[in-house]
Amino acid sequence: MDYSKYKDQPEFQAALREMFSSLDDSVLNNPRYASILETIEEPDRIITFDVNWVDDKGEKHTNKGYRIQFNNANGVYKGGLRFHKSVNLSILKLLGFEQIFKNYLTTLPMGGAKGGSDFDPKGKSDNEVKNFCYAFMKELYPYIGVDLDVPAGDIGVGGREIRYLYEAYKQYSGKSDCSLTGKPLDLGGSLCRTEATGYGVTYFARGALKTYKDTNFKGKKVIVSGSGNVALYCLKKVVDYGGTVIAMNDSDNTIYAPNGIDFETIRALKEDRRGRIKEYKDLVKDEVEVLGSKDIWSIKCDLAFPCATQFELDEEAAKRLIANGCIGVFEGANMPCTLEAANLFIANKVIYSPGKASNAGGVAVSGLEIEQYKLGEKWSFEEVDLKLKHIMKTIFKNCYDTAKRLGDEYNLIKGANNYAFVGVAEKMLNK
Ligand code: NDP
Repeated sequence: MDYSKYKDQPEFQAALREMFSSLDDSVLNNPRYASILETIEEPDRIITFDVNWVDDKGEKHTNKGYRIQFNNANGVYKGGLRFHKSVNLSILKLLGFEQIFKNYLTTLPMGGAKGGSDFDPKGKSDNEVKNFCYAFMKELYPYIGVDLDVPAGDIGVGGREIRYLYEAYKQYSGKSDCSLTGKPLDLGGSLCRTEATGYGVTYFARGALKTYKDTNFKGKKVIVSGSGNVALYCLKKVVDYGGTVIAMNDSDNTIYAPNGIDFETIRALKEDRRGRIKEYKDLVKDEVEVLGSKDIWSIKCDLAFPCATQFELDEEAAKRLIANGCIGVFEGANMPCTLEAANLFIANKVIYSPGKASNAGGVAVSGLEIEQYKLGEKWSFEEVDLKLKHIMKTIFKNCYDTAKRLGDEYNLIKGANNYAFVGVAEKMLNK
């Protein structure tokens, strides 16, 4: 693989390196996959557009909008939309490429896609976010649809943004099909979608802790980075299982609460008030220390769940976690650990799960949202949660069994990538 052609796309290059350096010789040297190995890095289609919107003072702004339809061998294009000032083609290609294999791992019929904009919803009024979402969808709607491409949320795109995007989709297309998932319930969303990614990574971790270390969450000190959708529901489930979440962060600060962070207090702060994490200290009587955002990985813990953003946990942070006795690192975010950090965990027999395996719960429940729409059914929270548990268990088993078969039991990167690459390649060959 010639990575140099992607020297201007370092994030995408990192995703390619992670995949191709982990493939077994039996895959790399199999003539059946030769053409796939050459072409899989090319997205089927990249749609770029200008998003022209107006702020509350009547001033006009233009942001860049993207949708990458990467690969639909396994089903309709599927993957989230990210609104964040850092968004560019390289980051979206990283996320879209990962999504192809993640979606295959869920066992549901979904291909890989990703999209978004460099628009930053932080500090914008509801009205400005609405104006932006309508302007974004005005450009995107001809390219999506329930049998073609079904976007969902990601960083900066939660229930509020999906509501505006879906209302705009209906207005511009004249259709009300399931062409966006993660919708609020009154617009046809699925129960348990909000919780799905955070719960899913915890279900995955539970299986891994039992299999590798014959242990569970009880009494464990846990760090969950981020404080958005994935992080909040990861915290909730870790606490349900008997663990204590002692630290979380946002891009400004870390809060360290040795007796545990209270779910309802932090949920209300972040979801209802869109507050900053340091405000948590004033909301509880318990001991809370406010540190810098990057200090989070210096805190001693048993388990770590990076749930914020890509490349937030580097080799230095990995060394500190290992020295502090951490026994498991489970990615809730997409590629939060650098490849060097991940390899260090694997070499030290710290359980490490790549995001494409352990954070697949969100897209899995999105897949179930489409299924409910197509069947004309509404499943209960418990029903969806049970299906999610089953999917996460299957993902872990397929990744673990593959890693073990390849003689590298602790290497779930190898397990996930070899299992998913072969699966997607076969779909492409049989298309
Ligand atoms: P949100 O926008 O809800 O939350 C993101 C959180 O991460 C915020 O608390 C944000 O803080 C924090 N953050 C962002 N950058 C940094 C940084 N450099 N250092 C520390 N904290 C940071 O996003 P989600 O929870 O939805 O997504 C989080 C991750 O999970 C992403 O990688 C996403 O791609 C992945 N993911 C999400 C899924 C989902 O269902 N939502 C599904 C699968 C993966 P701040 O407010 O300061 O920006």
